[in-house]
Amino acid sequence: MTASKKSFLRIVLLLCTMCFSISYIVEAQDFVLVIDAGHGGHDPGAIGKKAKEKDINLNVALKLGKMVQENCPDVKVIYTRSKDVFVSLNRRAEIANNAKADLFLSIHTNSVAGSKTVMGASTWTLGLAKSDANLDVAKRENSVILYEDDYKTSYAGFDPNSAESYIIFEFMQDNYMSQSVHLASLVQNELKNTSKRRDQGVHQAGFLVLKASAMPSILVELGFISTPAEELFLASEAGATTMAKGIFRAFQTYKREQETKQGGTATQQTKNTSLTTEKNFSSQEDKKVEQSTAKGVTQTSDGSKPVFKIQFLTAGRKLANNDRRLSGLPEVDFFVENGTYKYTCGASTDYNKVKATLKDVTKRYKDAFIIAFREEKKINVNDAIKEFSANK
Ligand SMILES: [Zn+2]
Repeated sequence: MTASKKSFLRIVLLLCTMCFSISYIVEAQDFVLVIDAGHGGHDPGAIGKKAKEKDINLNVALKLGKMVQENCPDVKVIYTRSKDVFVSLNRRAEIANNAKADLFLSIHTNSVAGSKTVMGASTWTLGLAKSDANLDVAKRENSVILYEDDYKTSYAGFDPNSAESYIIFEFMQDNYMSQSVHLASLVQNELKNTSKRRDQGVHQAGFLVLKASAMPSILVELGFISTPAEELFLASEAGATTMAKGIFRAFQTYKREQETKQGGTATQQTKNTSLTTEKNFSSQEDKKVEQSTAKGVTQTSDGSKPVFKIQFLTAGRKLANNDRRLSGLPEVDFFVENGTYKYTCGASTDYNKVKATLKDVTKRYKDAFIIAFREEKKINVNDAIKEFSANK
């Protein structure tokens, strides 16, 4: 071999090694975190004496993203906005969904009329507000859709200021609820201990931005911009850093826990699964499921009585019958909805029996939940339960 050939080979080898390491780095970033700084552009959010919510949110979001990027090389950070621009609520969720994010973290600052002393941080997950005060927080955050020209069409007639609109959150089946609530409690704990904020607790309310994102998601209210002392703190660089640090520490814990729980190949499996699951709203879903096809292995039908089943897993494609995720469960079945394979088990017309089975299933699939069918067509589960109770 001539010297020039040798050096040519050396260069080829070097290039190969470089390509390999580059692709390795890209592949290694398998956890996608979306950080959503609330408001922006012509939507200032809540307004304090000097500061605007949109600026506080962005500052904390960018600091948090930087901490993650510097400390977690396997995490890809995506911002819904990284400067002062307006982004619609649907677009924010869309960014996360398109990126197949593992986590969606929305950052906001609270405000309350009539008090200049109330202080503290709170963390929120999607759900039905348990008090008027909680509903008010969701109303205020959701009312940003009024800045969008076609909000009536985009949000299917949702009126952010009408309590009636929030009924959709009552019939919600959120596959990520337990993960979201757990993360929320981790964040709240760090905001209390690391960021030393007064503890305003973990709550649930109907946030549109969380509803539209198909992954575990939380919304943080950093503190009250309406309280001058807290406004001053949140608007300061030191304050923003402290808040970001608290959230960052909770994120680290959450991620570490996920890794221990899943380990090896399971991580990939769970990720594939979570990509295709969605937050469903029974009331709206009835319309969507007209196209659903139920062609499972088992058939449990007793005339036109509702059949209850436990949905425990979703997948982007049909799983093999001997897939171990399906093993050991009674009457495994599946149906296809919007291109997603949804796996069910424990079919029965006896709701109480299905409820008892659910207890066992949740030991393995903690987010499993009950759905209902009539003659192979999915129906509203709440209506089906009512019918079951009436005919008992
Ligand atoms: Zn806000």
